[in-house]
Amino acid sequence: MTRMNELSRMMKALEDQLVVCMKCGMCQAVCPLFAETGREADVARGKLALLDGLMQQMFDDPEGVNQRLNKCLLCGSCAANCPSGVNVLEIFIKARAILTGFQGLSPAKKILFKGMLAHPELFDNLGEWGARFQKVFTKPANAVIGTSCARFMSPLIGDRHFHPLAPRPFHKIIPALDTRAGASGLKVAFYVGCLADKIFPRLAQATVDVLTHHGVGIYMPENQACCGIPAVSSGDTDTFQRLLHHNIQQLKAGGYDGLVTACATCTSTIKEVWPMMTAADDRLHAEARRIADMTFDINQFLVSKVGVTEVANRDGDTTVTYHDPCHLKKSLKVWTEPRALINASRGFRLTEMPESDWCCGMGGSFNLQYYPLSGRIGDRKGDHIRSTGCSVVATGCPACMLQISDRLSRAGDAIQVKHPVELYAESLKSA
Ligand code: SF4
Ligand code: SF4
Repeated sequence: MTRMNELSRMMKALEDQLVVCMKCGMCQAVCPLFAETGREADVARGKLALLDGLMQQMFDDPEGVNQRLNKCLLCGSCAANCPSGVNVLEIFIKARAILTGFQGLSPAKKILFKGMLAHPELFDNLGEWGARFQKVFTKPANAVIGTSCARFMSPLIGDRHFHPLAPRPFHKIIPALDTRAGASGLKVAFYVGCLADKIFPRLAQATVDVLTHHGVGIYMPENQACCGIPAVSSGDTDTFQRLLHHNIQQLKAGGYDGLVTACATCTSTIKEVWPMMTAADDRLHAEARRIADMTFDINQFLVSKVGVTEVANRDGDTTVTYHDPCHLKKSLKVWTEPRALINASRGFRLTEMPESDWCCGMGGSFNLQYYPLSGRIGDRKGDHIRSTGCSVVATGCPACMLQISDRLSRAGDAIQVKHPVELYAESLKSA
């Protein structure tokens, strides 16, 4: 009964938000999906029209609604360019929650989210187990990018090129931290995120090194859980709530001035989705809001709070180009700071690519479900990266790093894929 009450409350809220769309169609011009398919059903206006009358549609054709709703990168390009200010991402996430509440999760997602992701220790253990045995199924693909591919035909991996699980996840390298504020007088909580922990521990290490270099104290509680975005974007609000409770509990202590992450997706989830999906619980909402308000992307924190400034490094001999993650630029309006951090890194010369803020096509589970389409969007990005003649492409999101690595590696490019904070950490070491 409580579940039905919650669903009908969400449905009512959704109807109120849907009327804001004036059906102008301006979202067509910026939707990376529409650019590939040309189908009205794929763009925000088409999806919003579908949701108008969701209740009836759910009874008539639940699977059809599910497919149309999930065929979306949740990139926010439409919302960022909507003249009416329609909060498209909030509508889509809530609609997915309603639909999953009505229809249930697929068996695979049930195992993945409820069986694994919802249990942080088990999830960590499975990751470590996977790292030990992955070489049986995979082989190196591109030494410069660091990708692997399937050793045998695999329906799960297909012909993807991917970054393998790190031999040692970051939580095994540094399980926890609680250091005092140094010269900066600042102390932050560091939320590591799943990808930085299990695939790119070098990114988490660079973040710790840079914060320490600038005398920023770090509170990093052990046993951190996923931010919840994979679960909530599949409509699994139960797993999302469980992860949220866990993380808030972990982050309660520490006496810090701000929270940083080096993952654009985690940052936008903490800042926007945590408060959005806790509205029904006043206490939890207040805590989520408090944490959201003090959360920074690492580039933003280093530039605006620590005061890292650009250096005259135009003579750097390594050409780097920057891809704007959707969650950083479109959702959080952070795009000058990553560039400033690159320009503060001696030895690197920043060269802009065309359409630097065009989505890379990753979209989380979108990549798993619609890999060929995701690949076509990613190849447009790959062409633009290549056109700069760079030897490094930087981006502020580990999920974008995965997608860009796949596209460049498959094409046989020798372009490294890194995070701006890694470049900055390298330049500090070589100074
Ligand atoms: S979502 Fe915004 S841009 Fe798209 S049709 Fe509606 S009002 Fe226009
Ligand atoms: S979120 Fe991105 S992919 Fe989805 S409808 Fe909007 S612009 Fe298109």
